[in-house]
Formats: sequence, structure tokens, C-alpha cells
Amino acid sequence: MTTDSKCLFCKIISGQIPSRKVYEDEEVFAFHDINPWAPVHFLVIPKAHIPSMAHITEDHTALMGRMMALVPKLALQEGCNPYPEGGYRLVTNTGAEGGQEVRHLHFHIMGGSRPWLRG
Ligand code: AMP
Ligand code: ZN
Repeated sequence: MTTDSKCLFCKIISGQIPSRKVYEDEEVFAFHDINPWAPVHFLVIPKAHIPSMAHITEDHTALMGRMMALVPKLALQEGCNPYPEGGYRLVTNTGAEGGQEVRHLHFHIMGGSRPWLRG
């Protein structure tokens, strides 16, 4: 599996940098954002070092499907309120103009009772 020894999220996956883990399997890792915008704010990432959504091709169809399919389950598990009164926001910042700071693909899941700090 591709990893980048200088990448912050690859270091989180390997345990070199601690995180509050939400979920882990062979291909996917999820952990709480260190600087949450909302009462619930966690990140879902592939274990492989894929820099951004701009790098996704048809070869990643199964992985993307698995990551997406985890979101509803993990959102409820981590305290997002049920749809439709509750719900959550799913965001993937891509590239500098997309506001991406960490260059390892990640899905933000933000939810919980309003108001939020941002968004
Ligand atoms: P983005 O701006 O979309 O690249 O999002 C990067 C996210 O990673 C931000 O929301 C940060 O708060 C979060 N982040 C940065 N460092 C850590 C860390 N060590 N543990 C957990 N989340 C982090
Ligand atoms: Zn990485």
C-alpha cells in the first residue's frame, strides 16, 4: 500500500502521531478532527496515501464506495442526530482553491445540534 513517511495522516494511520480513532479496517481509517467546527467532526480517510479527490480514478471505485457506505453508520455512532431533523455535512476540500490543507484525501463529517462554530 502506498504511504508517504512525511504525510501527517499517514503518520496518524501508523500510530506515529496519536489520534482519537473512530473506526479502522484494512483499507479505511477514521478519527476525530483535532479542531472541530461542529459538536461532531471526524475524518474518514483511505489508508493508502491518495493526495486528494483530484487523484481519484475508476480504479478507486470500490474504495470510494466503501468509504461512502461507512458514513451513515459512523455519523450515528459518533452522535449525529437522525435524518431528517438531524443529519450531517460531508465535505472534501480539494486543492488550494478548494481549501485543502492536508494533502491526504479525507472526508469531513460534521454534525450535531446547531449552532456550530463554522459552516
Ligand atoms: P482540510 O483543510 O480539508 O485539509 O482539513 C484538514 C483537517 O485536518 C482540519 O480540519 C484539521 O483540523 C485536521 N487536522 C490537522 N491535524 C490533525 C491531527 N493531528 N489530528 C486530527 N485532525 C487534524
Ligand atoms: Zn498520507
